[in-house]
Amino acid sequence: MKIGIVGAAGRMGRMLIGAVLAADEAELAGGTEALGHADLGRDLGELVGLTSAGVALSSDPRALFDGADAVIDFTVPTATATHAVLAGETGTVLVVGTTGLDAAQQNAIVLASAKAAIVQAANFSVGVNVLLGLVEKAAAILPDDYDIEILDMHHHHKVDAPSGTALALGLAAAAGRDRVLDEVACKVRDGLIGARPRGEIGFATLRGGDVVGDHTVIYAGPGERVEIAHKASSREVFAGGAVRAALWACAQKPGLYSMKDVLGL
Ligand code: NAD
Repeated sequence: MKIGIVGAAGRMGRMLIGAVLAADEAELAGGTEALGHADLGRDLGELVGLTSAGVALSSDPRALFDGADAVIDFTVPTATATHAVLAGETGTVLVVGTTGLDAAQQNAIVLASAKAAIVQAANFSVGVNVLLGLVEKAAAILPDDYDIEILDMHHHHKVDAPSGTALALGLAAAAGRDRVLDEVACKVRDGLIGARPRGEIGFATLRGGDVVGDHTVIYAGPGERVEIAHKASSREVFAGGAVRAALWACAQKPGLYSMKDVLGL
């Protein structure tokens, strides 16, 4: 299976190059970066400290989509929307890890999924996908006087908040309570805001250092507190999951899939 990587010189892109080169069933089709990127033209293997991969970093995503069976995208929302259009035009499998997409950018993915198999997940680790199921179950069992708060901490480079994974955990908790997240979410608290409304799902965002990704869901009830947590210590878990998703999606019909589909959860 020929797998291409857009945003190949980014933190996740570099991990993905290693993961594709290490996968027996996969071949590295190429990688792209934004126009003007300092590493354009460099060999992708050498870029990540490995032996030559025989493919250079380019700024031509169309050529990559034409030549690959699947493309993995951990970039920025504007680029992801453009890549979704290319996936739709070429029928190439697309794996989307980019978070922080607005409604129009998300719509570009939905439209493209009529023509191509697309796997989108806010988090490609197996552990977080297990966590999503546990969070929904706990929210369904615990009564709504157990206040739900979701905490995420990430490295200081991260640009979107709350994290995509925190929002996915919020969606899972809201689903467990049969509520719509947008109607009960509180993403910012500042000043004299009054008492916490019952049923609210609160978010708190911490940023600093090189934290790969920590998430905790707290159910604070009368006389006790339940906490379910996940801590990623290496980006390898996301890269490995994304390559697994790409290989899985190559055998699927066009449609929009999640990591739960890939893992059969
Ligand atoms: P990063 O900034 O290190 O990498 C993004 C790369 O995309 C950069 O190298 C940038 O130059 C490149 N890029 C920008 N525009 C481009 C374009 N038009 N064409 C090609 N490349 C382009 O960021 P990161 O830490 O690797 O994270 C990237 C995204 O992945 C973020 O949205 C982050 O939240 C998300 N993420 C998701 C998961 C998951 O499991 N779903 C895990 C980690 C990170």
